[in-house]
Amino acid sequence: MYLAAGDVRRAAAVLRDSGKTHMLIELARKMDKGSSESLRHLAEALVAAGELTTAADLYQRLGDYRRVGQLAVAAGEWSRAFALARDHPECKKDVYLPYAHRMAQENKFVEAQKAYHMAGDWQTALRVLTILEQGALSEERFSDAAHLRHLLARQALHSLHTSDSSERATLLRQYEKSEWLSRVYHAYDAVHRSVHEPFSLSQPDGLLHAARYVLSQLTSAPAPPGLSMFCLYLCMAKQAKQLNAGLLARQMLDKILGLQIPHKFQESVELLMLKSGRQAGREEDLVPLCWRCRRHAPLMATHCPRCRHVFVHSMATHEVLALVQFVPETGISEEEALDLIERTAPPEDVESDQDVLVVHRDTDNADPFVDKFDEEDDGGVVVCGRAALVRLSAGCVVVVRRAPLATLFYRNMLPELPVTTCPACHTLYYTEDYEVQLVTRGHCGFCRQPAACDQSEDHERVRGSSTDDSGPSSPRTPRDDQATW
Ligand SMILES: [Zn+2]
Ligand SMILES: [Zn+2]
Repeated sequence: MYLAAGDVRRAAAVLRDSGKTHMLIELARKMDKGSSESLRHLAEALVAAGELTTAADLYQRLGDYRRVGQLAVAAGEWSRAFALARDHPECKKDVYLPYAHRMAQENKFVEAQKAYHMAGDWQTALRVLTILEQGALSEERFSDAAHLRHLLARQALHSLHTSDSSERATLLRQYEKSEWLSRVYHAYDAVHRSVHEPFSLSQPDGLLHAARYVLSQLTSAPAPPGLSMFCLYLCMAKQAKQLNAGLLARQMLDKILGLQIPHKFQESVELLMLKSGRQAGREEDLVPLCWRCRRHAPLMATHCPRCRHVFVHSMATHEVLALVQFVPETGISEEEALDLIERTAPPEDVESDQDVLVVHRDTDNADPFVDKFDEEDDGGVVVCGRAALVRLSAGCVVVVRRAPLATLFYRNMLPELPVTTCPACHTLYYTEDYEVQLVTRGHCGFCRQPAACDQSEDHERVRGSSTDDSGPSSPRTPRDDQATW
């Protein structure tokens, strides 16, 4: 009767109160037309009657996607909710915030913090990450601490997109600090394990490189929370002894003598001292080589003291990669530089058609990677003009695209050992090491990005840590947020 009178609100209320849910659903199906107000009354009655899916269909017809998202969440239809949040960003908060709360209640904190991030609740996301990192450090889970720090770095980088210019400098500083800490903790994890666990599968030179990497980073910065200098020196001493570098082992043991030795290590340190002489051995092989000026640098150097070239490390073995950074000369855009590198170098001194770059012997013949390093060099980065870029073989060049940060260019001075960069975290590896990690672990050893990650695909999952497990209902990232995780 109410319906005949056109009073949908009262008709819906009567049907709801009398428990005639099937009639409500029938009515919703039939009401193709009708005022949006009528449809809304009907949808509310359906919600009250517990018919969330049919109600959501009605709200969808009304274009009220936020309400659809809320109902999908209430019904536990997470895949529908995530799809909706992906297509209608206005629903993000309605979908990801309750998901974050749910994950937090289930102690799945990494998942929770990512969902807070997706919901745009940056502060809570940051707080959760920081608490998680402190927990990982107090339990000496340095690999997890490294991963969480990496997530913090990525979050700072992602916030750059939405920040104004006054915040950019702070965010960049936060990014650099977090990324640095993440790399230090990542290397320290192997060192810590080698000292505290009875067996280590890592190779002695890999452990020595990892300890050396961390110690070199600490020459100009205080040790981050959780790191033990004793542990670093002991790892160095043990591996140096193993690698027949007795003098280095002894130097490290001398440093240990200036520290308080934990009781459980007293005996092993004394034994190591007895076995270590002071005779030099393979020390020369263990110091880093500068690939710019081909000279050896001090053991704990982060850059060459002569040409100021900054060493680039593999994130798998922590050895110095045979890479020399270069930048295109002022006035050459990134696109032009890449185009020039792709070109085949023309015969020198030949003036040719307009399609081919003209190279003049007198002015352009110098190879900036070999000939031109001197004390005047700024920052140890090679500057390449057009001619030098054309002469570079594309196979020897490693390009690290890491928007919104500047693209990095490296020349591989040992092209027979190809170097690759992880598409997600942009860390550098010998290609072989990276591939081994993908096969054995199924993901990048540093950022834990799965092997089949394709940045263009939209099915990348939010989760990425082994610190918890979230089951099959993880949210999926929207396309424009792909690079975040
Ligand atoms: Zn040098
Ligand atoms: Zn990675």
